[in-house]
Amino acid sequence: MANVLITGGAGFIGTNLALHLQAAGHTVSILDCLITGRAEKVHGFPLIRQDVRQPITGTYDWIFHLACPASPPHYQADPLFTLTTAFEGTRQVLQCAHTCGARVILASTSEVYGDPQVHPQPEYYWGHVNPIGMRSCYDEGKRAAETLAFIYRTQYQVDVRVARIFNTYGPYMEPDDGRVISNFILQALHHKPITLYGDGAQTRSCQYIKDLLEAFELYIQLDPILLESFFSIRNMALPVLNLGNPQEYTIKMLAEIVLNAIPESNSSLCFRPLPQDDPKRRRPDISLAHACLGWTPKVLLTEGIARTVDYFRSVS
Ligand code: UDP
Repeated sequence: MANVLITGGAGFIGTNLALHLQAAGHTVSILDCLITGRAEKVHGFPLIRQDVRQPITGTYDWIFHLACPASPPHYQADPLFTLTTAFEGTRQVLQCAHTCGARVILASTSEVYGDPQVHPQPEYYWGHVNPIGMRSCYDEGKRAAETLAFIYRTQYQVDVRVARIFNTYGPYMEPDDGRVISNFILQALHHKPITLYGDGAQTRSCQYIKDLLEAFELYIQLDPILLESFFSIRNMALPVLNLGNPQEYTIKMLAEIVLNAIPESNSSLCFRPLPQDDPKRRRPDISLAHACLGWTPKVLLTEGIARTVDYFRSVS
């Protein structure tokens, strides 16, 4: 059984991951500064309350590095904090792993592809990112974090593995996160207008949290020699996998699916301005993750939405 550190363990993915790994018998500690994470989500796990940009001590087998504001309203609220957390936080995690010999999963993002001109997005696509826009603190921060992973893997032999996570939803999402699925569910439950940004024709591919947790577990446990050979025969110096559900929906379709899941709602659709640089289409090519891990997401959007609605009903 592994001794695990989850940075950002009081956030949405971190909370789910901590509970999942604990149920599998692992020992879990959480590092979180609780700026976007919540104390009540720590669930009694040992908490190291610190900024991930500060040196990290301790000896771990595995580190899941999730610490960084991740929803557009949160990461845009303090762009310098976001950019420096993405870069310096990752450097501290990799330095700790270098010292203690931990294996690391770096939570990267589909945002490294920006507003993509290749569809669906495979890992070898370099992306189409605006370096000086509203989203760049996060997008460029995560791209730089991947560069750090590349440097620490090739120069310092740190066993770091990159997960490019596409839109993910499920229990323990923060109500004030501002993400599309949590916004729509809460608006529908409270009979408020469903806020569609732009004309709602932009697309996203949404993955239920349980599928992501299964991929994480397979990815972190994969034998380092097998992993190395899998990526080196593909001329990739760093393990990088897209983790997401390739079912693609327009945002308007998402709103309709949420409304169908909450039949008592009398919310109607309303249109709001489209934020700057909002990607028009997003869908992961997951053939590499399937070949590497034997993994495919299983939870259908309607099923995942129903479970998430149950969660929000139970907490509101
Ligand atoms: N969106 C929307 N209404 C909302 C929140 C988001 O129409 O209340 C749109 C947003 O413009 C984007 C998509 O839904 O096109 C996904 O937004 P989210 O903030 O969840 O994540 P993103 O994929 O943009 O990082």
